[in-house]
Amino acid sequence: MLAEIITIGREILTGKTLDTNSNWLAKELTDLGFKVKRIVVVDDVAEEISQEILNSIKYGVRLIITTGGLGPTFDDKTLEGVSLATGRKLTLNPEALEMVKERYEKFYKEGAVSSPEITPEREKMARIPDGATPIPNPVGAAPGIMITVSGCTIISLPGVPKEMKEMFAQYVKPKLQEFVAKAEKKRVIMEKIIKSGLSDESVIASIVKKVREKFPRVYIKSLPERFGQDVDIEVRFTAEGYSKDEVETQIKGAISAFIQLAKEYKNKENRRLDK
Ligand code: AMP
Ligand code: MG
Repeated sequence: MLAEIITIGREILTGKTLDTNSNWLAKELTDLGFKVKRIVVVDDVAEEISQEILNSIKYGVRLIITTGGLGPTFDDKTLEGVSLATGRKLTLNPEALEMVKERYEKFYKEGAVSSPEITPEREKMARIPDGATPIPNPVGAAPGIMITVSGCTIISLPGVPKEMKEMFAQYVKPKLQEFVAKAEKKRVIMEKIIKSGLSDESVIASIVKKVREKFPRVYIKSLPERFGQDVDIEVRFTAEGYSKDEVETQIKGAISAFIQLAKEYKNKENRRLDK
């Protein structure tokens, strides 16, 4: 099951902070049975965060964990990025607001802050994408979030390592253990072999390249046995996923794109030979 980690923060890109969070998360996710495909560092820019999330979804990533950018300041842009990518508006979440209130009351009682009041900056941390579930922060103030769209679960955690680790251990890890157990049961692999109508594997290779650009999740393998004009090389299409319909759609789409391009090649070749 594919996962991706997105580290968010200019402090990482300028070298002021060493990104230890993604290293720690990569180990945890690998231990849980995920295959971490990419670790990306993104600036505090909502559009760039959103773009990375959309790229991952396109490549069939089932889990994205972001770290950083959840705080009260203007450059904490993570939830704006998640909102842009998912099309879910940021709204004040009562449960998240309760979490923020409780934290500031505690900090106030301990003398760590001078007022327990919910200022607009503090309230900002409780504005989360519609449909997201807030994750309590037992160390700092900003709640994390969890949201699932298009078969991909996005989990946003704070950048402060102590907060991130504690939230992962207490709330995220148990959920991911359930998630892995369920998903493995539903995993579907589908395979189809077609006769390509082509005799030259190098021609097939160029067609496969084009088909893969449109269907990156379908593995396409030509199966040549010998050279010769009379050969009709078979091609195998394989795709995996967690929904039979989705996998079938991918395979069918790739096969019809392949057949179309093979037809175009043969027509062109016939016209050339007729001349
Ligand atoms: P942020 O949640 O982005 O406001 O980050 C708060 C603080 O956590 C930063 O000032 C850093 O000191 C630390 N931090 C943020 N991201 C990371 C990271 N990926 N690895 C280690 N420390 C981090
Ligand atoms: Mg930051």
